[in-house]
This record gives sequence, structure tokens and C-alpha cells, in this order.
Amino acid sequence: MTESVLKLKTIHSLREWRSRHQGRSIGFVPTMGALHEGHLSLIRQARQENDLVVASIFVNPTQFGPNEDFSSYPRQLETDARLLASAGCDVLFCPESDAVYPVGHATSVVVSGCDDDLCGKCRPGHFKGVTTVVAILFNLVGPDRAYFGSKDYQQLHVIKQMSCDLHLPVTVIGMPTIREPDGLALSSRNRYLSESDRKQALALYNGLCAARDARREGVCDADTLEQRARAVLTSAGIDNIDYVSIRDAETLKAWHSCDHDPVLLIAARVGSARLIDNMRLSLDEAR
Ligand code: AMP
Repeated sequence: MTESVLKLKTIHSLREWRSRHQGRSIGFVPTMGALHEGHLSLIRQARQENDLVVASIFVNPTQFGPNEDFSSYPRQLETDARLLASAGCDVLFCPESDAVYPVGHATSVVVSGCDDDLCGKCRPGHFKGVTTVVAILFNLVGPDRAYFGSKDYQQLHVIKQMSCDLHLPVTVIGMPTIREPDGLALSSRNRYLSESDRKQALALYNGLCAARDARREGVCDADTLEQRARAVLTSAGIDNIDYVSIRDAETLKAWHSCDHDPVLLIAARVGSARLIDNMRLSLDEAR
């Protein structure tokens, strides 16, 4: 088990480290920090499948809208470095913003269409910020495999699309959502929740479960499944719902065929936190 993590703050030091480790396989986990078991599950998987594990912590300004929580986003670098070491991470790359985006930076990576849908529609420019920073980080770290949580389902989809379209030499791996014992998906933003918000937030998971159970009882109509989930949110007092949407789990387009599993995606505001969650509505009890 790694005792401590090598902290690299500059692009120069990362490049030097990288050139000293040519020929070793690298697993990469990009994060914004304020780490929890969800992040650490990605590190542990990367540890199992690669010679070396690199994590990044970078609160990426370009993926936040003007009225979003960029300045208040939790930052706890020393605690995170200890957590990364305990999960077996070798290197923490934690650059300053002006290193990633030096004066004059003018290049973005855009996956067309993603701003028109789901979180892209609610957060204009968000995915452009995500794909641009992930492309930069992939370019700097040069990983063989990169690990992302299915909790951010649309993000995972967009990053897979980008990596495929740009022929990036990295395998993008989606990992399961880690939850609290009662089902709430772990999120760095859960710390914004008051005690009563926390109770209300559980309605996201309960709504997903209600739709999943309805599908298992034979409901095969997207509108009805969405309504089952939405009813759970509203009866818990959540009235600020960005979307409750059933999609094809592979393409994220409209779900038409009852023959394969859809995914149900939810985004809603609870207190001051915007929370997202999703679940594949599988007929198979084991999933
Ligand atoms: P973030 O720090 O929020 O940008 O997340 C960094 C990575 O951790 C992303 O790939 C997220 O999808 C993943 N992640 C966040 N929450 C969870 C969770 N509860 N379970 C699994 N992965 C997660």
C-alpha cells in the first residue's frame, strides 16, 4: 500500500514524472476534490488494473456557470492527499488554474449536441468546460485507462464520445455509483445539505427505485415511469426539478424499445445543492 502520494503542482513536474515512467501502465482518476468513497472506489479500481495511479484535483472554473458554486466548492487538499494515499494512489496532480489555462488560452473541445440536453441544457457551457479540461488532463497525464463514475451518467457518456471521436489512446471506464447505506448517492455537494435537506434528498433515490419497481411490475411506458419518480420527489416537497428523464442507457436518446434497459436520470435542487442521480431500470433483480 502506498504510504504517501507524490504531489505535483506544475505541468513541468508532471511531464518529468511521466517521462520517467514510460512503459508503465497508468490509471487516471480526474476529480475536483472533497473526496469521498465514490472517488476512492475509482482509485481502488485503477490500482487493481494499472502499474501506476494518478489522480487530479482541479476545481475547473470553466465548467461552472456564473451563479454556480465555484467559489464555495469545498477545497481540502491535505485531507484529500491522505485519502488518496490510503486508497493506493501514487501521484496527485493539483495544478493552479493559470497553469491549465494560461493567459491567451483559446482552444475548447466541444461534443456537439450535449449542450441541448439534460444537464447541458440546464447548465449552458458546462460540458464544454468538462470536455476541454478532461482533454487537457488526458494529454498531460497520458493514461492507459481513465475511470469515471456512472453517477455523472451524461458526463461519462460525453467523455466516451469525445475520446472515441478524437481517437484518444485511452480506455474510458465507467464505474458504479457508491451510495450511503440508505441509498443517497455520495456527492461532494451533499455537505451543503442541512439535516432536513438530507432527508428530502433521499427522494431522488426513492424516486429511481419507484420507477425501477414499476418497470419490474411490467410498466413499459416512459411517461408513466417518469411520473412514478416525479411523484416521489414532489411528495417529499422537492419542487425545483430540472428533469426526470427516461433514456436509452447506451445512447442517451429517447427510449423506445422495451427489449433493453433504459436509464432514468434525475436532477433537482434540494436546499442550496443541485443534486443528480440515475439508475438503470433493469428487470434483473440482481442489478
Ligand atoms: P467530481 O469530483 O465530482 O468531479 O467527481 C470525480 C469523479 O468521481 C467523477 O468521475 C464522478 O462521476 C465520480 N463520482 C462522484 N460521485 C460518485 C459516486 N457516488 N460514486 C462513484 N463515482 C462518483
